[in-house]
Amino acid sequence: MSAALPLSAALLSLLTATPKAPVRAEAPRASAGPSFQVAERLIGAALTEGHAYTRLAELTDGVGQRLSGSEGGEAAVAWAKKAFEADGVTVRLEPVKVPHWVRGEGRGRVLASERTRGHALALLALGGSVGTPEGGLTAEVIEVRSLEEVAALGDKAKGKVVFFNHDMAQPQDYGRAAGLRTRGASAAAKVGAVGMLIRSLSTASLRTPHTGAMSYDESAPRIPAAAVSVEDAELLHRLLAGGPVKVELVLGCQTLPDADSFNVVAEVKGREKPREVVLLAAHLDSWDVGTGAHDDGAGVVMVMETARLLAKLERAPRRTVRVVLYANEENGLRGGRAYAEAHAAELGEHVAALEMDGGGGKPLGVVFRAGAGARELLTPWMKPLEALGADTFLPGDASGADISPLIPARVPFVGLRVDASRYFDVHHSEADTLDKVDPKDLAHSTAALAWLSYVLAEVPGVLARPEAPASPKP
Ligand SMILES: [Zn+2]
Repeated sequence: MSAALPLSAALLSLLTATPKAPVRAEAPRASAGPSFQVAERLIGAALTEGHAYTRLAELTDGVGQRLSGSEGGEAAVAWAKKAFEADGVTVRLEPVKVPHWVRGEGRGRVLASERTRGHALALLALGGSVGTPEGGLTAEVIEVRSLEEVAALGDKAKGKVVFFNHDMAQPQDYGRAAGLRTRGASAAAKVGAVGMLIRSLSTASLRTPHTGAMSYDESAPRIPAAAVSVEDAELLHRLLAGGPVKVELVLGCQTLPDADSFNVVAEVKGREKPREVVLLAAHLDSWDVGTGAHDDGAGVVMVMETARLLAKLERAPRRTVRVVLYANEENGLRGGRAYAEAHAAELGEHVAALEMDGGGGKPLGVVFRAGAGARELLTPWMKPLEALGADTFLPGDASGADISPLIPARVPFVGLRVDASRYFDVHHSEADTLDKVDPKDLAHSTAALAWLSYVLAEVPGVLARPEAPASPKP
């Protein structure tokens, strides 16, 4: 992609916004305000060089799937280390023990009855699921819409496959539906079910099932769990309206002993306050379907490109910018926990953490999870984001799964919101591939991230720390 992108209108308008008095980029600035020369360098390079997209192609088409514990997972670690080294960015590996779940075969069908000749189901086992018994399982299906509904089934669920239908239609429905995916199997097992199916958590479908993490309660038997495509959920719903429906499920999933993996930790040392850390997070693992282009390849290449561009500046930012490519976000969060544990003594000097894990869409604006005064601190530095459409402070909290273990240490969070309106079309499915990422959107978000990261590392003051949570998360 290098040189393929023309100097965009965004960059041009940024250039015209440059203050009239020329300031040499190498010279230390007298004022404490933002350097528009640095903005030009960072944003200009991100918009025109296409480096992030080239890297994303290497990671998705080259490395491919990278589920924790898999060969792809380890290949991704080696790739990332080499890429940082090639970029002149200091990098180290920090060990993390990760779960090692393997999918094995997976199929299912609606059995023939007097009302249908039968249908194959497009399904994917949920990550962490146990397999079906030898030879598969055959059972009647019972449909529910909530965890409350399944608990109320009582004996009616005995020996059946509980099918969680839901109405996810927009990205903001994901959190609610994910609760069914995570806890549905154990809720069903508690009332005697032998299997669990769930409608894929998706905002579009061409009969593509979407996987995702689930977990078991210690107090319930472990039953196999899978997501069916939206179309197959609709089929089950229609058939169930007419009477009993039986399905056969064959899942070959297994959980192997934990495997060795790593968080990849790279750093651009601060020139004045090297112990103060601005943490940029993304997760290197993906599911074992598709190639994790949006989730979270896009986040990975955005934070890597930010480190590369910051390392190329003549004058490093005031504080250290640390990029962490986390292991095992998708099915365990072991990387996030390992980092918080290993760096516990330093977290008081983590002045900001920012996680990119919402896909490679265009930038929309900035969110915080910080004490009072965040806006006032950053407002004078937001101008370069205007041309990228990202200079607005948006409502809502900054968050991120991998950085969530830093909440008890009251690390301020900053978020760069990106357009995720089409993210859940492909999320956790075979369709999450490079072609779904628009190089221009990716370049714009990379540019916005590079500037925002520089600002957090350079602005004279630091964000006030947020209140301690009422009950610290484990
Ligand atoms: Zn993700």
